[in-house]
Amino acid sequence: MDHLSSSQINLFLLCGLKYRYQYVEKRPKPFRPSALAFGGALHSTISWLHKQEMEGRKVPPDLVLRIFDADWYSQKTDMEIRYKENEHELGMIILAKQMLQLFLEEPRKPVKGTEVPFTVPLINPRTKENLGITLEGFFDVIEADDTIVEYKTSATTISQSDVDNHLQLTAYGYVFEQLFRKPAKGFRIVNFVKNKKPKIVTTETSRTGANYEAFFFLVKEVLKAIKVGTFHPRPGYWCKDCEYRDVCPLWKTSIVRQKTEPEGALANGG
Ligand code: SF4
Repeated sequence: MDHLSSSQINLFLLCGLKYRYQYVEKRPKPFRPSALAFGGALHSTISWLHKQEMEGRKVPPDLVLRIFDADWYSQKTDMEIRYKENEHELGMIILAKQMLQLFLEEPRKPVKGTEVPFTVPLINPRTKENLGITLEGFFDVIEADDTIVEYKTSATTISQSDVDNHLQLTAYGYVFEQLFRKPAKGFRIVNFVKNKKPKIVTTETSRTGANYEAFFFLVKEVLKAIKVGTFHPRPGYWCKDCEYRDVCPLWKTSIVRQKTEPEGALANGG
């Protein structure tokens, strides 16, 4: 193993067994959860908008909505999208377009990079211990004043404490300091909340050297567990969106499944 990404670390911490299925056994995914397709298409559209604006182009709102149509289409061309109960494609498209309209109405700060790739060595910022692998990933957005911004879609509003402890933001701050030899100006999560009446909630936070040292410690322990092949399953509400649930021994018996499946599906083995 020569690298880890922040999404790999997140996935390992969410459920070790899912990490094993995805990254060790490289099992193909039989479907794409609707929430992932929704977030992916919204991200692509906003990233496209930022790129246009960085090049000085003024983009009419209806063009942004048409770009979303193309991004949504690309989400479903290579894989079936699996919807939750009471969800359907048209409803999700309308919701996303309402969110984009809200986003376009809000003032936007100048951006200097979007979907910026990075690769940095994993080094303890204080002791300089080197894990011998790299951390790879992408910054969602870096604003002109060096604020790191992450877009997130969710069913409920992400709380201040979740933003304060958000691992991806910590990883981005850690990488930013390594790359630019200065701290990021600030951190912000722009949360697209999928209410019936959608809303955008912006929450700011900060990071210090202690956060980066804790992040390094966490990554070191994750790496140790991966190297010795320890992949604990961790069932929870996220199982209902898990692409591997049909092969996961826990899903079949999990109390989570009983809470998320319609009556009858369990009896029919569906
Ligand atoms: S169904 Fe749940 S416990 Fe099983 S692999 Fe997926 S996330 Fe992990």
